[in-house]
Amino acid sequence: MSSALFDLILLWSPQESDAEYVELQNLLKTEFPTEFIIHSFTTSQQAIKHVLAIKNPSRLSIIITKLGMNDENSGQILIETIRHQDKHTFIIIHSHTACADPNIRWSLASLGVNMVTESITQIRNVLHQILPLGQLNSESKYTCPYCKWSSFSFSQLYIHVPLYHTNEQELSTKCQICQRSTRNYAVHLHEEHNEEHRQRPTPTPLYAFSLVVCQRKCDNRFLVVQESGSMGFWLPGGRVEIGEQLDKAAERETLEEAGVKIRLTGILKIEFVPRTDINRLRVIFFAEPFDENDCEPKSIPDYESYGAMWLTYEQTVQCSTQGQLRGNEPLKWFKYVVQNGIIHPLSVLSKTEL
Ligand SMILES: [Zn+2]
Ligand SMILES: [Zn+2]
Repeated sequence: MSSALFDLILLWSPQESDAEYVELQNLLKTEFPTEFIIHSFTTSQQAIKHVLAIKNPSRLSIIITKLGMNDENSGQILIETIRHQDKHTFIIIHSHTACADPNIRWSLASLGVNMVTESITQIRNVLHQILPLGQLNSESKYTCPYCKWSSFSFSQLYIHVPLYHTNEQELSTKCQICQRSTRNYAVHLHEEHNEEHRQRPTPTPLYAFSLVVCQRKCDNRFLVVQESGSMGFWLPGGRVEIGEQLDKAAERETLEEAGVKIRLTGILKIEFVPRTDINRLRVIFFAEPFDENDCEPKSIPDYESYGAMWLTYEQTVQCSTQGQLRGNEPLKWFKYVVQNGIIHPLSVLSKTEL
């Protein structure tokens, strides 16, 4: 036979017994018929009296109250009384006012309220989350370092910590599970002892690339690099070095691979592709030669490339049909520019935080 797991104090003033109150009561009756012993009150004085009379406050309990801070501060006194009695009580404030006013929400959190909500659905969901905490289990060997509540299994501790202590100061303590000392216990628990989290390598390496579509105005030709190893014609560009800005990498790579000094004028695309091994970021810049009268491409082979040249769009189409492009991106982007695709301003790419 299952006995009730929690005491639940429901405080809701009668003038506010609206549709939400009915909804909440029905919910408690139908979804949690045996899990809670419900104590209903209509004034916080009654509730305070009840709380003070509790002999053994360590019993798991939950309070749901409609009262905000306006009721001659009695809502505040109730919360303070509960917190003085017992750290383990989960306090939910259901209040539309508090959810619309950051000062009230902040004060409630500072008093030790665990959750401020205006949603009955969220109350329902959190009650379901809390239920496993009331179940006895065979491997109850952990103690919460914040509130010293003991006899948790690992999964109970994992549920308990964020629900009850998210608003508290960071706690630096020794982890009971792995015996390591932690600077922020909650973060440690989440990152080191969450199976889902652990599968991901952290930090994820990011490979960043800058590519350049450079067009000159005198004949509308585009700059292409003839890649080494007969790989084909390709856009100038390459991997961004550590500590280097994306735009500087675009200018540097174009000079190295194509021998042309450029001026960036816009951005065609910013592309971010997360993968399992690395994350890849690519920015496709739009550019023009720094000096149209001095933009002769490189023709001496070196480690960077075999050389470079200026191609018309029609020539690029031909190269494509003859398998002379390393991939279809030059064709795609030259067509985009010829057909007056949108060119975004350079300012969409910020070089600093905020
Ligand atoms: Zn705790
Ligand atoms: Zn640990």
